[in-house]
Amino acid sequence: MKNKENKKTTTDLSAKHFSRYGEFLVSFELSKYGWNVYNPVYDEYIDLIIHKHVCKDCGRKWNLTPALVCKKCGKDFSKTQKNKIIAKKICGDCKYEMVGNKTKCEKCGSKNLINCPTCGECGGEVEMIDHSCECGSKNYTTKFRSVQVKSSRIEYKNGRSKNTYAVDMKPRDLIKDEFHFYVWCLIDDEDKPHFLVIPVEEFKRVMGDSLKGISFFKDQDRQHFSAKDFGKWKEFLNKFDKLE
Ligand SMILES: [Zn+2]
Ligand SMILES: [Zn+2]
Ligand SMILES: [Zn+2]
Repeated sequence: MKNKENKKTTTDLSAKHFSRYGEFLVSFELSKYGWNVYNPVYDEYIDLIIHKHVCKDCGRKWNLTPALVCKKCGKDFSKTQKNKIIAKKICGDCKYEMVGNKTKCEKCGSKNLINCPTCGECGGEVEMIDHSCECGSKNYTTKFRSVQVKSSRIEYKNGRSKNTYAVDMKPRDLIKDEFHFYVWCLIDDEDKPHFLVIPVEEFKRVMGDSLKGISFFKDQDRQHFSAKDFGKWKEFLNKFDKLE
């Protein structure tokens, strides 16, 4: 890569750091799609474990924390405006109503006070309810996926761009699991990342007979492909929906 004005780029990273850099970029990209991202403590082939909760019926992101909602007007206090919940207390003996941090009834002195969080808008009772989806569903599902990240910069030979990326693939990467995926992180000469999301079975389909080739068997397979259109891998560009 040309180094304009001595600005540092990803080409200045060591191979090891570049590989970590790719994992970070993939992690943040995944988080845009609602995935929580984890690093395995020890594993040779899985770089990331990802996880999310979604509505079973419509696929929207699911919130596992309960909602604080007014029973009467439906106002949701869960995320903000908690200061607008009025701390109302009702005396269990004389039914006198008070606001604030009281420990006994201002009228009869009873300590039998009932907490009554109250909506500042309409005076209705605020209650804690389990989240339900905008579509009305009360069912969610938990998804787990494992991801192997491979990263490549544009290949250069004798200082000249070959306009290709290169990814090393080995038989041991072929984890036979429908929930395992490859994400290839390809960094162009503008330091901009491009992501290919490839399910293992689809990788095998595209590889076809070269999976049986001697070089693949001997861990010497290297997928070179165009940095302009990603060659035979272009169908996987930004296909994060394949993880769903
Ligand atoms: Zn839904
Ligand atoms: Zn209300
Ligand atoms: Zn009282």
